[in-house]
Amino acid sequence: MDDTIAKRGGPIARAAQLKAAGLRTTRPRLALADLLFAKGDRHVTADQLYSEAQAAGLSISQATIYNTLNQFQEAGLLREVQVDPSRSYFDTNTSEHHHFYVEAEGRLMDIEKHAISINRLPESPEGFCVAGVDIVIRLTK
Ligand SMILES: [Zn+2]
Repeated sequence: MDDTIAKRGGPIARAAQLKAAGLRTTRPRLALADLLFAKGDRHVTADQLYSEAQAAGLSISQATIYNTLNQFQEAGLLREVQVDPSRSYFDTNTSEHHHFYVEAEGRLMDIEKHAISINRLPESPEGFCVAGVDIVIRLTK
């Protein structure tokens, strides 16, 4: 199934999406997947998702939210973007891309992968290779 269609589809596509990622379809996972993926590409913190779940009348604990976000991330459904040591966003767009970060608003905006060119990287330490480069450009007014 096309990845993008599965992400934006209804409950059946949602269940298929979890299954394809190797996750058991539990009710909290389905409900959270719906909150996360029904609105297209977005960046949410665990706290924001918790508020959205409460607003939607779901009784899901904060611990379940954290666990589910981490499981989704490990399964490749989400990408974590850490903007500082105390603040992590979960990105529903798992393609390779970079971000603008508006610090005052706590808002992330996507930058297309090809909009940034990196001319030189330091040589990786012995025994390591570069797995990826994530750039966060911090914005202020
Ligand atoms: Zn993003």
